[in-house]
Amino acid sequence: MSSMPLAHRRTTTERGYGWQWQKLRLVILAQEPLCRFCKQAGKIVQADEVDHIDSDSFNNEWENLRPLCRPCHLKRTAKDQAFGKHQWRPEWLRPSAIPLVIVCGAPASGKSSYVRERAGPGDLVIDLDVIASELSGQSLHGWDRAKWLTPAIRARNEMLGDIMRSTAQWPRAWLIVSEARPDNRQWWADTMQPERIIVLETPPAVCMARAKADSARPREITFEAIGKWWSAYERREGDEVVRHGA
Ligand SMILES: [Zn+2]
Repeated sequence: MSSMPLAHRRTTTERGYGWQWQKLRLVILAQEPLCRFCKQAGKIVQADEVDHIDSDSFNNEWENLRPLCRPCHLKRTAKDQAFGKHQWRPEWLRPSAIPLVIVCGAPASGKSSYVRERAGPGDLVIDLDVIASELSGQSLHGWDRAKWLTPAIRARNEMLGDIMRSTAQWPRAWLIVSEARPDNRQWWADTMQPERIIVLETPPAVCMARAKADSARPREITFEAIGKWWSAYERREGDEVVRHGA
């Protein structure tokens, strides 16, 4: 008999976990009884918590769960909170089960229009701006990032989880991410194995003119983000470059 479920009652109730989660956690701890972090550091310590590797998604897939001892779990939670960490690139992502096109580019480079003009009627479009705008009821580019970024990323990550599953029914998915750096686009290429990665090389002046024309966009922040994107941008072999909007 174990008294662990009682010891965890407060936290699990706070996080909205029920009996299903308690069962799953006991199965995980029975399968892998040692703290994974301690084991990696060469120490043998009994695990007493089951941690979500991607703490934003609360995805209960096996590969998103790991056993930790209490001190390691506390340290990891504190670290996440200290960095205000958002899961831009969740560790638990796996290749898409359906054809996927990833469209990258600076803010206001025309990614949404590019996808809108090409996506089929049954395709799934995964666009953080659309998700945040729907969640918040605010405009597509004027949503309050301080308040809605974390829930929007969580919802986006759930959609990414959906297209990994063999039950995914969409003919094709389109994912919009800015990703200026080639190593970050390489990460998406390796992790989700999209059929194409397209980069819109819309010149900064064109992006800025587009941003100016959209009164809902916070102008200063968008201009700065366009500049940052272009200073971080490098081409990557395998990307399809679209010279666009000039
Ligand atoms: Zn540990």
